[in-house]
Amino acid sequence: MSTEAPRERRPAPVLAPAASAESGTTSPPETPKKPPAPPLPFLLDFFPLEDAKQTRLSAFFDNLRAGRLTTTRCRKDGRVRWPPRVVCPECHTSELDWVDLPVDGRIYAFSAVLMGAPLGMESEVPFVVGLVEVDGVPFRMFGRIVGTPWDQCHVGQKVRAEPYDLPDGRVFYRFRTVPA
Ligand SMILES: [Zn+2]
Repeated sequence: MSTEAPRERRPAPVLAPAASAESGTTSPPETPKKPPAPPLPFLLDFFPLEDAKQTRLSAFFDNLRAGRLTTTRCRKDGRVRWPPRVVCPECHTSELDWVDLPVDGRIYAFSAVLMGAPLGMESEVPFVVGLVEVDGVPFRMFGRIVGTPWDQCHVGQKVRAEPYDLPDGRVFYRFRTVPA
């Protein structure tokens, strides 16, 4: 007899009254309502940096939209530099011309992003970034490399630069692996 009584009492007072008391009295007045989170930006660029009002390098993006990968060449020392400049770091002149870059190159080094992707790129993991040795220019270019799964990329692999339209309307370049 003494063991049956507690067994019957236990479920009723512990579960049912506690749940109803909490939801009825505490949650509506004491829990402040969170405003909905604002939508996250696509990337950590909060301004339309490709616009001529925003950057003196807007020609780079205009050219890219037209299918041309370009950079600047100094009129005084004749050097082609990457990335494009508004002032030559040697001569300090702003007399620079836009010139087309070769689009073919080879992977010099690469890395795969398998986790911890930058804001807006989480859904693209895993992806590859790398340094590309572009034919005929004295510098290497950094960029996203697409076209081959990360675990099949290799140093020396042929790539070609191409324009890439970002989902927010901007444009950038990428390197795409070229079938051997
Ligand atoms: Zn110069």
